[in-house]
Amino acid sequence: MTPTGRRVRVGVTGYAHEVNALADPITLGHGLEASQLEGGLAASWEAGALLTRLHELGDVEIVELPMWEFGASGPLDGDDFRTVVAQVVAAIRVAGSLDGVVVLGHGAGSSTDDRDTDGTFLNAVRSVIGAEVPLVVVLDFHANMSAAMADACDVIVGYRTNPHVDIQDRLVEAAEHMHRMLDGERTCIAWCSLPMLLPQIAQLTAPDEPLGQVVHRGQVLAVGPIRNVSVFGGFSLGDTEHCGTSVVVTALRGDEPAAARVVGELCTQLWTLRGRYRMHATPLVSAVVEAGRASRGERTPVIMADVADNPGGGAPGNSTFVLDALLSAGVDGVVMGLHCDPDVVTEAFEAGIDGTIDIEFNHGSTRPLARPLRCRARVTALVQTVLVPTRGVYAGSTRHPGRSCALDLGGIAIGVSSHPVQCADDDTLRHVGLHPETARVVVVKSRGHFRAGFDHLFSPDQIIEVSAPGVATVELDTIAWQHLPRPAWPLDPIEQWEPTVIVHRGGTR
Ligand SMILES: [Zn+2]
Repeated sequence: MTPTGRRVRVGVTGYAHEVNALADPITLGHGLEASQLEGGLAASWEAGALLTRLHELGDVEIVELPMWEFGASGPLDGDDFRTVVAQVVAAIRVAGSLDGVVVLGHGAGSSTDDRDTDGTFLNAVRSVIGAEVPLVVVLDFHANMSAAMADACDVIVGYRTNPHVDIQDRLVEAAEHMHRMLDGERTCIAWCSLPMLLPQIAQLTAPDEPLGQVVHRGQVLAVGPIRNVSVFGGFSLGDTEHCGTSVVVTALRGDEPAAARVVGELCTQLWTLRGRYRMHATPLVSAVVEAGRASRGERTPVIMADVADNPGGGAPGNSTFVLDALLSAGVDGVVMGLHCDPDVVTEAFEAGIDGTIDIEFNHGSTRPLARPLRCRARVTALVQTVLVPTRGVYAGSTRHPGRSCALDLGGIAIGVSSHPVQCADDDTLRHVGLHPETARVVVVKSRGHFRAGFDHLFSPDQIIEVSAPGVATVELDTIAWQHLPRPAWPLDPIEQWEPTVIVHRGGTR
């Protein structure tokens, strides 16, 4: 695997956090350090495919370093983020000489005092491994690119799908880049961030979607010296200076002009398509009218996405706006979930199966986005196991809704969990004994990943993205942003824009 013929040592670490600036700050206790789990990184869904491919490609010793995952949530406490960095740096020092490092990241992190934690993390790794050791990073499709991130890395691999159904493929690809770099390949990185802030519903990558067309064009151009083309939708809810749609190209060292041309072409295409992005969801009132029609058999069943309360976007999964509207309108034949309310789950466990209870969702809350809602409910299921979905983005991974229950509210069957979990597949509803396949109306707290986990039950024309208040809102013009780059379309009018491509020589200088 190396010219010297000796066994190579590759470190694998990670820092993955998608920060929603509107959500409450978190601490280290909210994170998960995957190398400490049973079986370590090799057994994990998050890293296993990378390690397997590295082993297939050569005689390689994997050095498992700390790999921190924080999911989607508010910013991490500043001191706790420094602890994460210090821990990883110390582990690399203890590991001794490494021939390469793969970082499994996300690319949309921030802390309470650092709005580019991904750049900070990658540069900390770079500074301890030295300039000559290859550094490959994998990022989420919703990464917000920064110059510090590009400067630290030799290869940047972004997911190419949204919903993210290619995560395992990108892990395999990262291993192959690392293999070539260990064989002596050297790279450059060209990138450009557009003054364009797309709400999450505008970022689908199906072939008929505008962003899907750009991703596809990028893969056509990813030939010869162009080693990787990554188009990032960005995550505007992070509210940092680095938010925005971007294109990042990794090419062979010496082919910087070709890399820059690809970046320029794709950025121009992204900009030119801006009249076609879907910028707003369906108003709640209109969505409930459609749900009523579906309920009465006047149209096909519908799946309503409560996009603004998506735990996958940092929301708590506890808003009652959609539930309240459906109850008030008398819509029945509804299956919905998962609503996060540990107190309600506790009451359901105390009442037992078939028990009838008077509950109040968000009991005692004064938060405008977590309004209390009183209901009479019959307990239909009590569950204490973990969830392993079989379809969609999370297929094969382990999810942790905690103690959960299903409640019959009279016409509306709702799954309630103790921890916020995005309902990205029908397995999540079945986990609590619900039957989405027979419902006239299904409501999910998910923004887009549900599309890959319900595609066998609902076609795209049966999907309604609902505009209700929430932390993960797609209505970007309703929030007083503090740090977003301005001017940026569509918040500000921009008549003319030309891409300015930045080229980095790759981490190995
Ligand atoms: Zn994402």
